[in-house]
Amino acid sequence: MGRLIDGAAAAAALRAQLRDRVATMARRPGLAVLLVGDDAASAVYVRNKIRACEEAGIASFAERLPADADEGQVLRLVERFNADPAVHGILVQLPLPKHIDTNRVLAAVAPHKDVDGFGIESQGALMAGQPGLHPCTPAGVMHLLRKSGVALRGARAVVLGRSTIVGKPMAMLLLQADATVTICHSGTRELENITREADVLVAAIGRPRFVTARMVKPGAVVIDVGINRDPATGKLCGDVDFEGVQHIAGAITPVPGGVGPMTIAMLLANTIQAAEGSLTT
Ligand code: NDP
Repeated sequence: MGRLIDGAAAAAALRAQLRDRVATMARRPGLAVLLVGDDAASAVYVRNKIRACEEAGIASFAERLPADADEGQVLRLVERFNADPAVHGILVQLPLPKHIDTNRVLAAVAPHKDVDGFGIESQGALMAGQPGLHPCTPAGVMHLLRKSGVALRGARAVVLGRSTIVGKPMAMLLLQADATVTICHSGTRELENITREADVLVAAIGRPRFVTARMVKPGAVVIDVGINRDPATGKLCGDVDFEGVQHIAGAITPVPGGVGPMTIAMLLANTIQAAEGSLTT
């Protein structure tokens, strides 16, 4: 039976550390959160992020615009946050309404305040191995791997999914850690042969229980980023068939309680890092 990688415990420990760090800082870090429209799930995410900030001693500045706000209004708010010295991190909650150009809005966020790491400069810096803020979910996965003592140098890592939010930055971070990385996507042929080579397998595709035991090498570390609703039970489940894979994996993250809790913890970490002006590579 594989070891369980407890993301909830790791996230709680990190958040406690961050709270202590904030208490010693000369200036209070501040996170601005911009929500456009009235998507219910987005509103919950924003509330959770603001609560997490409060618990860590980080100031939060939430602004909400109506669903019919035009791009100019959104860009003006971003500019205001860019210029505000009390704001060290800016988070634009996605998805934005369809009539707004998401890339243009993300590009408007000042790179040193881009705590989601989605802006083109942050992505480029990650690609080039230069200092910058890294996307929270893959950064959270790296934290879990480090804390679990997983040796990455020379390891074969396979990432399922190539989104700019998870898959691609995940692959870059694993590469920086000297893993040999393969990225798979919907056009990948003979997927099972590739995943079975992985010492570290990261699933980020958004398909309930897609990764089954026969796709996993015995002893592999399996990281499940997926957050899906099981079509049969309506319950939350990952991209990995946890029940089947846990018997063959060396270590595995559950859903919920694995990667998910790390994402908010890394958002706090990025905001503090931005406030300290110490961007890591
Ligand atoms: P996207 O839908 O943006 O990307 C999915 C990727 O998976 C695409 O690259 C797609 O390939 C690939 N893919 C889809 N089906 C297959 C398949 N059958 N075989 C191989 N590759 C496939 O999703 P995200 O990256 O945004 O999210 C992925 C999952 O992670 C979702 O469940 C999401 O809810 C979850 N998530 C969890 C977070 C957390 O905090 N834990 C944060 C963000 C996301 P192609 O490019 O060819 O279409």
